[in-house]
Amino acid sequence: MIRDLHNKLINKEITSLQLTEEYFERIQKKDKELFAYLTLTKESALEQARKVDEKIKKGEEIRILEGIPGAIKDNMCLLGTRTTAGSKILDNYIAPYDATAVKRLKEGGAVILGKTNMDEFAMGSSTETSAYGPTKNPADTERVPGGSSGGSAASVAADEAVWALGSDTGGSIRQPAAFCGVVGLKPTYGRVSRHGLLAMASSLDQIGPITKTVEDAAIVLSEIAGEDLRDATSAKSSGKRYENYLTGEVTGLKIGIVKEYQENLKKDTKELMEKAIETYKNMGAEITEIEMPYAKYALPVYYIIMPCEVSSNLARFDGIKYGLSVNDQKYSDLPASLREALQAGNRSLLETYLDSRKYGFGPEVKRRIMLGTYALSSGYYDAYYLRAQKVRALIKKDFEKAFEEVDLILTPTSPTPAFKLGEKTEDPLEMYLSDVFTVTANIAGVPAISIPGGKIKEGGSELPFGLQLTAKWFDEENLLRAAHAFEANSKFKNQNSKP
Ligand code: GLN
Repeated sequence: MIRDLHNKLINKEITSLQLTEEYFERIQKKDKELFAYLTLTKESALEQARKVDEKIKKGEEIRILEGIPGAIKDNMCLLGTRTTAGSKILDNYIAPYDATAVKRLKEGGAVILGKTNMDEFAMGSSTETSAYGPTKNPADTERVPGGSSGGSAASVAADEAVWALGSDTGGSIRQPAAFCGVVGLKPTYGRVSRHGLLAMASSLDQIGPITKTVEDAAIVLSEIAGEDLRDATSAKSSGKRYENYLTGEVTGLKIGIVKEYQENLKKDTKELMEKAIETYKNMGAEITEIEMPYAKYALPVYYIIMPCEVSSNLARFDGIKYGLSVNDQKYSDLPASLREALQAGNRSLLETYLDSRKYGFGPEVKRRIMLGTYALSSGYYDAYYLRAQKVRALIKKDFEKAFEEVDLILTPTSPTPAFKLGEKTEDPLEMYLSDVFTVTANIAGVPAISIPGGKIKEGGSELPFGLQLTAKWFDEENLLRAAHAFEANSKFKNQNSKP
């Protein structure tokens, strides 16, 4: 899709301005219902589009993403633009700089349409914890788009953006991509700089693309990847163009199927997995069963380590340094007695901290701050955090061992297709189970991608099903190559609505 649009731009069949305006028109038409966007950046988008058109007119060369419109998840800083991370506490926060990934896209000439809706501070699997209301799934608007990058996935699926950036701490790029029938890539930890990403859990967070095709994901990754002096965990790279590795060939690639995951798969999911295995076999890949004995501890480990890091990262939101303060009285739900006290002005610093957080954070964020603070407190630290870190090392070993035998691991992205809005909001544990196949990649730091793998019929709807491929650390080349070959050889490609 990106390459086609790029060719159309350089052949002067369309202008970037026309393309950008077409996307804004579609946003205007569809987004009242879908609510994929929190903020639109129309003025700067049109200005950038005009610049690109000017270059083309003058006969200058343009880069592959130049003039192509896309969207940024609202937990990444975009200079001069409201950046809320889906939270009330950052309702008025204007980013004072660009996140590195965003800066690289801008330097590549991309057009940024706006910021997308998300679960508050990326905590959730349905975009329902956003303080601004949920996004809806374009495939069935009674259902969630997945989360936390639900706005980004919905915007791409509904042709409200050609590409989008998401962030993935435990599945937040891949699961919404699966629910919306698009492609979502979580790169290796360290592949993309996290500078300017509002941190959820720093040892797990990673930025990556959500797109319609695997090639588009490769193109966006090529633009944003690479070392950054502002993120000490970012890895050196040789400036690879990942789209050059998409040969359509998988002959001789070894793909592992995880034994422990097979038992509990639902019938539809099992059938689609079997079809995918057949497709890969027919293309010449070798399929092997592998064991991952510690994978069953991935979810409990994630739900200890992640809240610990959350409780520490979110301590900075105190009503003084960033965003809203209870003293501004901009929160709508303040009780009258508190308003009076605030007007009288005799509030202590501690009270400002406590009330700003009390009224600024939603229930899911508070739950995780409390869980993390508890697990890190003296006496519990050894029993929870330390033990979880030890099991984390064992899960990494599972992957190391598996990758001695195979090049890639194939699983479903999520145990179920998109669920109904409100279906899991009352039961956080039920919601957490959505992440059972995705969190392992974050725990180990390996790259993983979700690609369309068919449809599941449920309640009168045909819902997208996502297949997940996982590769070795820094082996995005094989990951994307195998994903692209499947896309090229399966009938699920281009299953999304066309503009
Ligand atoms: N759904 C997971 C959670 O709620 C993953 C979130 C994410 O990847 N940001 O923690």
